[in-house]
Amino acid sequence: MPARPILITGARTVDGFAQDLLIADGFFREPADAPADVHRIDADGLLALPGLVDLHTHLREPGREDAETVESGTLAAARGGFTCVHAMANTTPVTDTAEAVGRLAAIARVMAHCQVVPVGAVTKGLAGAQLAQLEAMAGVGVTVFSDDGKCVADSGLMRRALEIVGGFDGVIAQHSQDPLLAGPTACCHESRYSAEFGLEGWPAQAESVIVARDAQLAELTGARLHVCHVSTAESVDVIRWAKRRGIRVTAEAMPHHLLLDTSLLQGRDTTFKVNPPLRTNEHLEAVREALADGTIDAVATDHAPHAAVDKAKPFELASPGMIGLEQALGVVIEVMVDTGRMDWPTLAERMSHTPARIGRVAGQGRPVAVGEPANLVLVDPARRARVDKNASASRSRNNPYDGLDLPDPVVATFWQGTMTHTTLV
Ligand SMILES: [Zn+2]
Repeated sequence: MPARPILITGARTVDGFAQDLLIADGFFREPADAPADVHRIDADGLLALPGLVDLHTHLREPGREDAETVESGTLAAARGGFTCVHAMANTTPVTDTAEAVGRLAAIARVMAHCQVVPVGAVTKGLAGAQLAQLEAMAGVGVTVFSDDGKCVADSGLMRRALEIVGGFDGVIAQHSQDPLLAGPTACCHESRYSAEFGLEGWPAQAESVIVARDAQLAELTGARLHVCHVSTAESVDVIRWAKRRGIRVTAEAMPHHLLLDTSLLQGRDTTFKVNPPLRTNEHLEAVREALADGTIDAVATDHAPHAAVDKAKPFELASPGMIGLEQALGVVIEVMVDTGRMDWPTLAERMSHTPARIGRVAGQGRPVAVGEPANLVLVDPARRARVDKNASASRSRNNPYDGLDLPDPVVATFWQGTMTHTTLV
């Protein structure tokens, strides 16, 4: 039986226009065509944003279902206003074959609360030695390839990967970390803090040297490069240079790199261990500015759930990563919108339209308009709440925002016309 059509009244689009929205059969329809028995939602005072798209989510299934599953991770996504997430390849087994892509897609078809786009690995087993089956994965629809968690450090391999994906309009999303400058035990931004806290430093340049190398390989090959989790002022400078030169580079910033800084590592709380690490204020400011002016194209979450056992370790040994799908929009509103750095149309660009375009995801990141797929998030820009890590839909509790008072904007999320989350009673 088809779902009852929904009529949303009183919401404003990001351009400020009040507009009733009729949702039927998964699409926005002419409100005048609403049937008499339509399900009505009063959205007076709310904003209607296109469903958010995350280019960078770790769902942990298959392999670490104790930390997250497709079901729990995508429910967290729906609660955060997302209608599409890109699932990173560093699962067990790694998503490095067409079969592995197919298995993840099959789980998502049954369990997911939003669209799940599988990301393919660049190298077999993320080992950095041999290329994975890039063309075969492209054959089953993969457009984004990443060894995220690890850097494709071998320049020759990175060049060949770019040449191959350039042949079918794919993109390499690079975790930029020179392993010779920031090895596996580096865990704190190299600064007076790393010295003071006695933690091994991870210099800003370990990121930007890879961004600079990759930008030049993108120029050499003509292929598309996407820079994951930009965290330093130096990387921003390199990306600005590359864009001016016409190189096909895009970049993403994470909410935690907009709000949280190195000083939080003082108590060695492993919740704040993340890769790349939390940086100092000058870097946070550079990333905010770059996100506002478009040097950084998109916000992504790097939602990285970890079981308690993997965080309950000495700081140097704990798994890096933090969860973030549910608070991402709130943090961006807090840091970028409420401070006047960014307006709502730009927020919709950075969190929906542009990430969908980078991932070449048809049907996502579209305008909230008649005839378009009904991917929508209703937002109360003024609502705030104290974050409670135990209230999360995620299976993990490594939430760096726990206890903070932040915007709590997501009132309802619709994916292909189906309400996947709501706080309306
Ligand atoms: Zn990464």
